[in-house]
Amino acid sequence: MRFDVISIFPDMIWSGVREGVCGRALSAGKYQLKVWNPRDFTTDRYQTVDDRPYGGGPGMVMKYQPLADAIAAARTPQARVVYLSPQGQTLTQRIVEDRVNRQTPLILVAGRYEGIDQRFIDQVCDEEWSLGDYILSGGELAALVVIDAMVRLLPGVLGHHQSAAQDSHSTGLLDCPHYTRPEQVAGQVVPDVLLSGDHQAISDWRRKQALLQTYKKRPDLLLTVDLSARDKAWLMEFTQNDTKVKL
Ligand code: SAM
Repeated sequence: MRFDVISIFPDMIWSGVREGVCGRALSAGKYQLKVWNPRDFTTDRYQTVDDRPYGGGPGMVMKYQPLADAIAAARTPQARVVYLSPQGQTLTQRIVEDRVNRQTPLILVAGRYEGIDQRFIDQVCDEEWSLGDYILSGGELAALVVIDAMVRLLPGVLGHHQSAAQDSHSTGLLDCPHYTRPEQVAGQVVPDVLLSGDHQAISDWRRKQALLQTYKKRPDLLLTVDLSARDKAWLMEFTQNDTKVKL
């Protein structure tokens, strides 16, 4: 999969993908990344990428031309131009999975200052994606979030095939609890079933715990997920024993 990022702070992007899963996947050629600095597409000696807003008011606005020229240089035939914006649709695991499956090349535009000249958004951008209802200083962190969330789903990037499928939001539920050595720590022991070696019992326990975590922390998710008869019976059990439920 290919990502192009348009940013006046390219080092922020490179430093964000250097380590961990994204760093290893980049070195292994699992995805391609190029960062384009709009300053390299300016025509004046000061490399101006922003100007004062029409109508007055505080802050500066990113200019159309350097961004449009950077996009023209980055563009490949199938690429979608995504403006990372607090006004966009909120990024979800569904969107992430859908785009990874389609392998659509993405050009991610990171805004700064008060934002970008509306004519660039109207004419050049295909979509707007938000991280959530809060304001960041710039779109670089949002672009990195998009890259990280997508890269870990690319074939061969995560070591264990199951590790992405079981994650929160991948099944529509939150993930089950995880434990590692030692068996006893801080007065708590690992649930017996995880030491039993019984794969079916472990799988059942994990499903039930995933339902329980979701029931307790994000019950809204239960409205959108496909539940089996057994899932529903467990949920009924949680509802009846609500005050006794222990995670
Ligand atoms: N004045 C803009 C508004 O209220 O819609 C916010 C500008 S913000 C200070 C600067 C840049 O940060 C934006 O152009 C956008 O690229 C990025 N940004 C801020 N919040 C974001 C969010 N929640 N999700 C994605 N990008 C965000």
